[in-house]
Amino acid sequence: MITEDLSHKLIDGKKVSLAIQETLRTEVEKLLAEGKRAPHLAAVLVGNDGGSETYVASKIKTCAGIGFGSSLFRFPDTVSETELLEKIREMNGNREIDGFIVQLPLPRHISVDKVIETIHPAKDVDGFHPQNVGRLMLGLPTYVSATPFGIMKLLEYYKIETAGKHCVVLGRSNIVGTPVSLLMSRNTNPGNATVTLCHSKTRNLEEITRSADIIIAALGSPEFVKGSMVKEGAVVIDVGTTRVPDAGTKSGFRLKGDVAFAEVAPRAGMITPVPGGVGPMTIASLMQNTLKAARNEIYPAI
Ligand code: NAP
Repeated sequence: MITEDLSHKLIDGKKVSLAIQETLRTEVEKLLAEGKRAPHLAAVLVGNDGGSETYVASKIKTCAGIGFGSSLFRFPDTVSETELLEKIREMNGNREIDGFIVQLPLPRHISVDKVIETIHPAKDVDGFHPQNVGRLMLGLPTYVSATPFGIMKLLEYYKIETAGKHCVVLGRSNIVGTPVSLLMSRNTNPGNATVTLCHSKTRNLEEITRSADIIIAALGSPEFVKGSMVKEGAVVIDVGTTRVPDAGTKSGFRLKGDVAFAEVAPRAGMITPVPGGVGPMTIASLMQNTLKAARNEIYPAI
């Protein structure tokens, strides 16, 4: 059996993320040379969900690698909503913290909406606050949430033509599908695509994906996108990261994307792997947002 070498089709998020981190490291050096302090990102972690632990640890590690300060505030999953909101208000007023995130998901007794709305928009480096989402909608400077921002950066880095293309987004979440649809439809580069946003009620999904020049899959359904759903030469961005049990790995699981890579990659023009595609870009984008916060770029009056 001859196996095709697919390496030339790979969109390497790890490589691009490292390149961005390198430029951020230089920016930190500049700030320090100006007598300013390094940007500081704080994270709030509630409970001990395995995925959340990994994501937060990786964000903190990235901060250390590029010279950002960081702090982690942990709470048990029994923490009350009042106590958590109190902590957020305290962080809003802490001048040593430029930006912070509250790692999701949260326990059910805590309202995610209340938590997000309590974060000061100027420190909302995840870009989840309604004010920042509204600014995104209006095309005003904002913290674009990290995953959509990272996807746009990948398209830009690989000079993938998006103008006039048909982009099909699978999944309409507030953190990925909806904002990336908006960004792809904007009069920007990348952007200017004709976007179709699909969800669980979409009819004739296969017909729609087969007409896509660019597919962005963010469903959380492992290997949902099959080879038969993809047009020859399409660019495929796989956002999905589902943990599936795997006794053969040290952790006991591995990450699976929303795209059946083995059958889609031979048809695709370019494709992101999982892991090593969108994931590392999400972290790099969060760091870019934190630098913007430290420089008061989005909200200069703060
Ligand atoms: P989510 O909130 O879990 O929502 C999933 C979306 O997919 C919903 O809009 C749902 O439609 C749609 N959907 C589910 N099954 C479908 C089907 N059979 N056909 C069409 N649409 C379907 O999404 P999310 O939070 O964006 O997460 C999606 C995936 O991305 C997850 O695997 C998550 O772990 C991953 N993720 C990765 C990163 C990263 O940095 N790599 C960041 C964020 C998320 P309805 O709205 O109709 O229910």
